[in-house]
Amino acid sequence: MFANDLNLSEIVEFNEGDINLQGRRLLLHDLQAFSELKKDLLEVLDFEQARKILIQFGYWWGKADAAAMKRVFKWRSIEELLKAGPRMQALAGLAKAVVKHLTVEPFHMELLWHESVEVSEQISSQGAAKDNTCWILCGHASGYASFCLNREIYFIEEQCVSKGDRICLAVGREKRFWGEQINGHLSDFKLKDIRNRVEQLSESLRRKSSQQNDQRKNSVIKNPAPSSVIQPEIRSTSYMRVLHLAERVAPYDSALLITGETGTGKEILARHIHSLSNRRDKTFLPINCGALPESLLESELFGHTAGAFTGANRERAGIFEEAAGGTVFLDEIGDISPALQVKLLRVLQEHEIVRIGENRARPIDVRIMAATNRDLHQMIMEDKFREDLYYRLAVVEIHTPPLRERVEDILPLARHFVKNYANSLKMPQLRLDASCLDYLQEYNWPGNIRELENAIERAALLCTGNVILPENLSLRSNYLKYNIPSSDEKSVLSLEQLVSRHIDSVLKLTQGNQRKACEILGISPTTLWRKLKELKR
Ligand SMILES: [Zn+2]
Repeated sequence: MFANDLNLSEIVEFNEGDINLQGRRLLLHDLQAFSELKKDLLEVLDFEQARKILIQFGYWWGKADAAAMKRVFKWRSIEELLKAGPRMQALAGLAKAVVKHLTVEPFHMELLWHESVEVSEQISSQGAAKDNTCWILCGHASGYASFCLNREIYFIEEQCVSKGDRICLAVGREKRFWGEQINGHLSDFKLKDIRNRVEQLSESLRRKSSQQNDQRKNSVIKNPAPSSVIQPEIRSTSYMRVLHLAERVAPYDSALLITGETGTGKEILARHIHSLSNRRDKTFLPINCGALPESLLESELFGHTAGAFTGANRERAGIFEEAAGGTVFLDEIGDISPALQVKLLRVLQEHEIVRIGENRARPIDVRIMAATNRDLHQMIMEDKFREDLYYRLAVVEIHTPPLRERVEDILPLARHFVKNYANSLKMPQLRLDASCLDYLQEYNWPGNIRELENAIERAALLCTGNVILPENLSLRSNYLKYNIPSSDEKSVLSLEQLVSRHIDSVLKLTQGNQRKACEILGISPTTLWRKLKELKR
């Protein structure tokens, strides 16, 4: 056998799911994926360590190729066996490898690599390099020759296109003939250093994460209420945009309107903005304008004098005064009456209030945030909401997207709630079953984050053995995305169409054999014949 007679289609068997080189399993992979892997290695480790790993990878690969070549073929000479190494590099797509020089005793081999895959990866992903980059190739050549001769042979790349040379040239010699020059390279072939490095890294990671845990614990004690749902890793760009906007507007005292469907976390966002503002050490007072009758809401907001109305026994300050220096959050602002809208407008314009039953105005110092799930523009057109009040409130308007538009956040939020309930219900092992993951993402979440939190709480109470299953979540099936919507009747097949398609598929399966098809369908040949006739076939 001559090295040049090696032919890919003869030595490699391409079966689906099993590519095979004379009994050795091979794997096709993608250059882009390799490129990403290399980038990750360079990032996680350092340049030296990443290079070592790839040289080692090539070394094992070369050794395995040599073992196969030695076992499978009868070689004309040891030279031909050695030349089969670079031939395999070419067949594997690593480079067009050419043997420039070869003597076996003492071993000396020079290889030229044209169009090295490692050069093209380097140039396309990062541009020219300062160093050689044909690491896998060097490893492969070294592993291959070492196995063939059963001696320690090392290839060093002396020129490389990546660093501006005209061609990639590697020289291989036995260790004892390399002399001093090899010492710097030897460690590239030894993995011990990498293990040390990985141990160092994981130690420092452990230290870092325990520090972070301590910091987190401290910050929770100092600042108990806000941002419980802002905490988990937000992945969706739509909510990242909301958070960026929130950060930008937090330091200013301007009024703020948060819009969005019920349950999208408007109050939590308001608390978050408050916690980032200069008022963070003062109170955040929320009030639900939709939950109180008008007269009660008015006295809650503005306060009253003693005897101002029946039941007002004592003088009382409203929340605009109570929140002095802090933030007032007016939830469901779309629900307030026209009379209160006028009074609120005055608060926003003059920064003062008048208690019920009093004549004098009192200055106030609060930031006002409001929220609504209603369409205020529509209400303005219908004369149900004052346009001037809207513009005073919506100096900055932030829209919180519904959960179904931020699918990437569903699982992190679900896991966050699972963790919370694991703590509060004292079920440390509580977790989601894998079958929940798709299920949660397929759901439309009409009630948004609040519905998700409720579903997890309910599931935590209902599940057995600390594992939450889809049925424990009790989601409403008509909001599952993969259900056929009842309005879309055209896409549902008629019984006749269904029968016709089924017969087709069975006939396809039996390759047109009607007798076999009858057996599978459980009908007589006459019935099949009649059906086909009915279906005009
Ligand atoms: Zn090179």
